[in-house]
Amino acid sequence: MPSPYSRLILVFFVLCLSTSCQSSNSNNDEYNAEIYSMDTIISLRVWGDNGNVSIQDCENFIYSIEDRFSTTRENSTIYRLNRSDDWISVSQEMADVLSFAITMTHQTQGAFNPSIYPLVTAWGFTLDQHIVPDSDTIDSLLPLIDIEAVHLDSEKNQVRLEENVQLDLGAIAKGYTADRVADLLRSNGHSSALISLGGNIYAVGKKVDGSLWNIGIKNPYGGGTVCSVYIEDKAVVTSGGYQRYFIEEGETYWHIIDPRTGYPAKAGLASVSIVSDSAMYGDVLSTALFVMGLEEATEYWRTHQDFEAILICDEGDVFITSGLLEQFAMVSTYTTGELKVIYP
Ligand code: ADP
Ligand code: MG
Repeated sequence: MPSPYSRLILVFFVLCLSTSCQSSNSNNDEYNAEIYSMDTIISLRVWGDNGNVSIQDCENFIYSIEDRFSTTRENSTIYRLNRSDDWISVSQEMADVLSFAITMTHQTQGAFNPSIYPLVTAWGFTLDQHIVPDSDTIDSLLPLIDIEAVHLDSEKNQVRLEENVQLDLGAIAKGYTADRVADLLRSNGHSSALISLGGNIYAVGKKVDGSLWNIGIKNPYGGGTVCSVYIEDKAVVTSGGYQRYFIEEGETYWHIIDPRTGYPAKAGLASVSIVSDSAMYGDVLSTALFVMGLEEATEYWRTHQDFEAILICDEGDVFITSGLLEQFAMVSTYTTGELKVIYP
């Protein structure tokens, strides 16, 4: 006769066996892909059943976004808007992204401004044929960088740009895409995925081993990383002067432009990373805070506090907002500057 204890042990073993069967049945394999789109390398890593099908869905979605948001593709919505001063019908998606971009232009007091395109072109970043425009050219273009000249009718989903005003969604489109790709993967049943579009990273859930994602922040002065942030279901978006730039007569000019001066933003920061729930929000803010510089960016964070930030200064000091303290580690080999914490 088995004792009650041995019966209990038996039940325990049967339970263990059934849970381990479940986990060995569930698919923890990684599926991944790397593609080139939206002017950057995009990497997708997905865990769970039918990961290959989901990756294909994501790729198709990303290519379709490029078709709609590109400034240089002849049939894109942005291309058409930029060559007309009439009302043009746009999709609900485009109206939503533009509406958010306009709101954020006001909220960042124009540090982020999607009507920047005439300046981006003048500096030759559109076709990677870089030139330093003369100051008369810049002065003549500054009045066109005007969000009030971008009209959005949210009832009719129509947009009208005043004469010669042109849009560039380069500082928001990749973040928007990362959010949507994350939604798509979740709705396909994936609880673990890592999406990286250039400097726009979105981590779905946790890693399959149950630990947090460890996202390295690149060293803007060379190889390797400066620090790590540990996240789940969050975006980490970085903007920096080291990503796209050219050097002329010893001077470095990069692709993030201060809409208020017309020149590449040199506000003392080498890179800005934003940790936020939405990659679109992070994308806008990483560009905006880079333009603002440390002091204005610190004030901006203190006012809003619905994101965290890592600001790496030209001299190498690393400023982090206090909300990151529990989920952050410096890399021991980084000795260019010190870690400093920004408190509310
Ligand atoms: P990346 O595209 O390298 O991730 P950003 O998100 O900072 O970097 O976006 C920079 C791009 O956005 C530029 O290539 C340009 O097209 C556009 N841009 C440059 N300066 C601004 C600005 N101040 N506001 C909005 N868009 C900008
Ligand atoms: Mg950006």
